[in-house]
Amino acid sequence: MTDVLIIGSGPAGMTAAIYAKRANLNVLIVEKEYEGTGQMAESSRIDNYPGFYGINGYELGEKIREHAEALGIKFLEAEVTGIQKREESFDITLESGEVQSSKTVIYTAGAAHRKLAVPGSEKFENRGISYCASCDGAFYHGKDVAVIGGGNSALDDALLLSEICNKVYLIHRRAEFRGDASTLAKLEQKENVEIIRNAKVQEITGNGKVKILLLDTGTALNIQGVFVAIGMIPQTEAVKKLVALDESGYIKAGEDGVTLVPGFFVAGDVRTKELRQIITAAADGANAANSAIQYIIRK
Ligand code: NAP
Repeated sequence: MTDVLIIGSGPAGMTAAIYAKRANLNVLIVEKEYEGTGQMAESSRIDNYPGFYGINGYELGEKIREHAEALGIKFLEAEVTGIQKREESFDITLESGEVQSSKTVIYTAGAAHRKLAVPGSEKFENRGISYCASCDGAFYHGKDVAVIGGGNSALDDALLLSEICNKVYLIHRRAEFRGDASTLAKLEQKENVEIIRNAKVQEITGNGKVKILLLDTGTALNIQGVFVAIGMIPQTEAVKKLVALDESGYIKAGEDGVTLVPGFFVAGDVRTKELRQIITAAADGANAANSAIQYIIRK
């Protein structure tokens, strides 16, 4: 039986582990298919994490992981399929059927990319449609691409791709962008970026690979790549029967990570909150670990 079992190994999970381990607790991180430290691994450059101006996201994630490993934190690569509350503990069922028991759980499973629900979206995934510009951008060197979305991810992706591609169309369904005005201003200065407002993707067509992006304005763009950055979906499948979710599907909890289930805490992007950033995920991790430590001490 572990004291603290952490689900997810992004900045929230890693920070929770570091705090719990330093309180001398027995900690295990369960992570689904390790591909880097959560979503941040997809960012080619991070300018808003104090002390690491301009660092590559994957690199910052590896630094956080090395920190956790240096403290002797254990990792288990497995998918959690269910969590059951017992009187004094939790049973965490893994895809293999194995069950792990823990006095407390800190859930930091994050969020996954929202998919574009239009004809061609599924057909051309990995054949011209990508959800990660920093991972796949280099494949589109000198080509024409489109970025879909109006948040910081879309703006960052468009900026990155403008350095690699011949032409970048940034397509947003509204006139106002959600993302930072400073990034938008940089994009407006780029000669190879065309910003198309008030337009929705209607269909993606091609011949084995993406060729044409049809917009609801009637415009048909000849492109070789589509980068979709239309937000995230909270990963709550394993816990949706255990905890309360808000109207957008995020787990309800305050900054202390305390949920309605005693001993079950939540941290990071999967928690209902205003600002989803690496620094707020890390802060959540510390707070949730503190709540778990207090819970164990008082038991
Ligand atoms: P987001 O902020 O939720 O933005 C999603 C965008 O996609 C919105 O502009 C939304 O349009 C649009 N959208 C949603 N569904 C759509 C659909 N079906 N078709 C077309 N457009 C659709 O998501 P995000 O950009 O992934 O960012 C997530 C969080 O991470 C945010 O808090 C963001 O600030 C943060 N982040 C920060 C940085 C950074 O600081 N450098 C980088 C990346 C992400 P509407 O505006 O009309 O709703």
